[in-house]
Amino acid sequence: MKALRDDRALVLLSGGQDSTTCLAWAMDRFAEVETVGFDYGQRHRVELACRGTIRERMTVPAWPVAARLGPDHLLAVPTIPAMGRTAMTSDMAIGLTEAGLPSTFVPGRNLIFLAFAAALAYRRDCRHIVLGVCETDYSGYPDCRDDTVKAMQVALNLGLETRLVLHTPLMWIDKAGTFALAEQLGGEDLLRLVIEETHTCYLGDRTHRHEWGYGCGTCPACELRADGWRRWRSNPGST
Ligand code: ZN
Repeated sequence: MKALRDDRALVLLSGGQDSTTCLAWAMDRFAEVETVGFDYGQRHRVELACRGTIRERMTVPAWPVAARLGPDHLLAVPTIPAMGRTAMTSDMAIGLTEAGLPSTFVPGRNLIFLAFAAALAYRRDCRHIVLGVCETDYSGYPDCRDDTVKAMQVALNLGLETRLVLHTPLMWIDKAGTFALAEQLGGEDLLRLVIEETHTCYLGDRTHRHEWGYGCGTCPACELRADGWRRWRSNPGST
């Protein structure tokens, strides 16, 4: 069995609020943290651009664990849009599909990302993989469920003959809890970074600034983020 370094983690960093909070969580715990992103032909490239800014802001000397952030890896997965259209990869309305799933659901996306991340973690000698999926604010994505991630961990460890650990620090908290976790990990500085630099909006809107950040304010992703912000602001101690 290949033993991987226990003090090293790989974070799936998309450029959104959840993965940014997960990056801070990982930097708080592991001595060396690398990031991976995926270019899968997403309709709004703004999220990928946010990744670089987030990483830069995490390495300013004022950030106490800045030295822990290691290299970034950007992997191209052009096969995903080649397999069919979704609201994330083409100009298609956001709604429910015939299967009762949101049209923003990209079939197999997280499963594919996890397989790529595990292959990379193996080569980079990282025992820990951190991802920002969540079952509580579960937007109807079956690949964000705890059982899916646990099953993937078993499959990856069997297939790679190693002992990777998949961490999902946001699995059982909601968006209000994610704001609270960011504040707990990095205070006002991290909160400001999350608000100003992370991207959530399904429509790619970076022109409308709300107190919770940029976005159209009406797509399901914006609504979830705005609602979490309001609930956390009205009762910050409850999460
Ligand atoms: Zn939006």
